[in-house]
Amino acid sequence: MGARILVVEDEEALTTLLRYNLDAEGYDVETVGRGDDADTRLKERVPDLVVLDWMLPGLSGIELCRRLRARPETKQLPIIMLTARGEESERVRGLATGADDYIVKPFSVPELLARVKGLLRRTSPERLATILTFGDIELDREKRRVARSSRPIDLGPTEYRLLEFFLEHPGRVFSREQLLDSVWGRDIYIDERTVDVHIGRLRKLLNLDGEQDPIRTVRGAGYALDDRFDKAAE
Ligand code: CA
Repeated sequence: MGARILVVEDEEALTTLLRYNLDAEGYDVETVGRGDDADTRLKERVPDLVVLDWMLPGLSGIELCRRLRARPETKQLPIIMLTARGEESERVRGLATGADDYIVKPFSVPELLARVKGLLRRTSPERLATILTFGDIELDREKRRVARSSRPIDLGPTEYRLLEFFLEHPGRVFSREQLLDSVWGRDIYIDERTVDVHIGRLRKLLNLDGEQDPIRTVRGAGYALDDRFDKAAE
């Protein structure tokens, strides 16, 4: 599962170009053409990075950026702002409003890809890491292998993606709905109880030798990787 990128851009040709190239790099790309729609989407789901155009219908990129920084869920969200040439003084305003980086149009695709990668490396290295670890659990993305204290664990594809997702966000609590959205994909309708079934399977396989359960059930909220577990296992 690649890092999730939301592209907010109203020029269709550019949107298509960005989607194609980011997709080819293995990112999970979503595109929105209006600032207000992006605002709504970002309240529902927070990606790993946003490529945000300055001039947008509905709500300007700068105003959206300001709103995102004002909300706790998106305060730290990595944002790359796209600005048109001649907006030099505006660019400074863009950074002051809280964008992490900016690119002046027209830009080359490799340049944008390099900026995206650089920013993700700084902000979410776990999304680019090949091997994810948590306590005595290790997941190797290249080999698609999971082990606990060097004991290999054979997970089904859904359990694997669930564990990978948890390892990318250790300690964070996710509702069943959020897990369905992130692990199964948001266009598929699946009953929320399916999540419980797969969590149950994942737990069984992870804790086969009667080890401590790394997954925490948060009553009324959902599931999380237990951050106390990581510390206890160190
Ligand atoms: Ca625009």
